Amino acid sequence: MLDVLIVGQGLAGSTLGYYLSQTSAKFAIIDNRHRFSSSKIAGGIVDPLSGKRLTLSWKAELLIPFAKQFYESLETVFCRRLITRKNVIRFIRDPITEALWPKRRDDPDFHRYIVGSTGIMPGFRLPLEGIETTSSFSILSESLLTAFTDYFSNRHLLISDQFSFSDFREETDHIEWRDIRARRVIFCEGSQIIHNPFFDNIRFRHAKGEVWTIKNTTLPQTHIFCRDHILLPIGDGAFKYGSTYDWDTADWAPSRTGYEKLHASLDEWIPPSTLLVQEAGVRPISRDNHPIVGFHKHRPKIGVLNGFGSKGFMVAPYYARQLCQHLLCSHPIDKDVNLNRFIL
Ligand SMILES: Cc1cc2nc3c(=O)[nH]c(=O)nc-3n(C[C@H](O)[C@H](O)[C@H](O)COP(=O)(O)OP(=O)(O)OC[C@H]3O[C@@H](n4cnc5c(N)ncnc54)[C@H](O)[C@@H]3O)c2cc1C
Repeated sequence: MLDVLIVGQGLAGSTLGYYLSQTSAKFAIIDNRHRFSSSKIAGGIVDPLSGKRLTLSWKAELLIPFAKQFYESLETVFCRRLITRKNVIRFIRDPITEALWPKRRDDPDFHRYIVGSTGIMPGFRLPLEGIETTSSFSILSESLLTAFTDYFSNRHLLISDQFSFSDFREETDHIEWRDIRARRVIFCEGSQIIHNPFFDNIRFRHAKGEVWTIKNTTLPQTHIFCRDHILLPIGDGAFKYGSTYDWDTADWAPSRTGYEKLHASLDEWIPPSTLLVQEAGVRPISRDNHPIVGFHKHRPKIGVLNGFGSKGFMVAPYYARQLCQHLLCSHPIDKDVNLNRFIL
C-alpha cells in the first residue's frame, strides 16, 4: 500500500512529490501528460512587487528566499539551468502607479527592492523611462516540468493517465483508484479542481491567461520589462509576452480576443517581432486569493495542494514542504491557507 497518491504533476504535485521523495514515504503521481497544465506555459516570474499599486507580494520576505533556495538546489540535482536572475523595469503609464512611486521610493520597507529610476531605455518604439526593482528572477517553467517528469519517471513514480472519479473508492482506512491502494490522496489538479466532487462547495475565481512567445533580436535581454503586459527574455532573441487576464472564460484555447489584446499592446511599444507560439492556460485562484492546503476535516484521507493563482512559482515550494511535514510529522498547516477555512 502507498502512503500517498498524488493527482496532478504540475508545479504543486511536482514540488510535493519532490519533498516526499526525500523521505521514506511510498507514493505515486498520476498525471494526464500535462493536458491542463498552467505550470508548463507560465512565465515563472518571481517578483517581490505586484500590480499597479506596487504592493509587496504576499509573504514575499518569507516565500521568495525559500523558493530561490529550492530552485537553486534543483539546478544541482537536475544538472540543468532553471533560474534566470534579472531585475524588473516597470514603464509607468498608469496614474495610480505614477502617484504611488515616490511614496514607495521613500518607504523603508521597499528600499531593499528598489534600484531607482532608469534613463530612456534603447530598443523600444517609444522613448520609455522606467523604475527598476530587484530581487526578482524567473524559472524556465517548461524545463523545470520536464526535469520533474524525468525525475519521477526514472524512479517509476509517475503514472501517465487520466484520474477518473468513477474508478475511485474511499474505504475505511485507505483509498483505492483502480488497482492502486493508498492511505491518502492529495489532489494537485490546478484549475481542474472545479471538477473534483470533494471540493465542490469551494468557490474559485480562475483566470484564463494567454501568452505569446515572440522573437526579436534587437530588443534588450537585460531585464524583465513590464508595461501593461510583461516582456520576459528567455534567450536566443526570444521573449514571452503576456499574459492576459480573462475572468469569464476557463478554456485552454488561444482566443481571438486574447490575440487582439496582446497584439494591440505589443504594437504600442515593441518593434515588429515574429510571433512564434500562442498559448493559453488557467490560473487556479481561490476566492480569498490564498493557497488551499491540507486534509479535509470530515474526510481525513482526502487532501489538496492548490490555489496558487498567478504566484505559483513563488508560493508552491514553501507550502509543498509544509504539507509534506504535516503528512509525515503532523506539523500544523498555516491557518490562512488551510483547506478547512472553506469546509463547514
Ligand atoms: C499564462 C500564465 C502565466 C503565468 N505566469 C506565472 C508567472 O510568471 N509566475 C508565477 O509564479 N505563476 C504564473 N502563473 C501561474 C502558475 O502557472 C500557477 O500558479 C501554477 O503553475 C499552478 O500549478 P498547479 O500544479 O497547481 O497547476 P497545473 O500546472 O495546472 O497542474 C495541474 C496538473 O494536473 C493535471 N491534471 C488535472 N486533472 C487531472 C486528472 N483528472 N487526471 C490526471 N491529471 C490531471 C493537469 O494536466 C496538470 O498537469 C501563470 C499562469 C498562466 C496561465
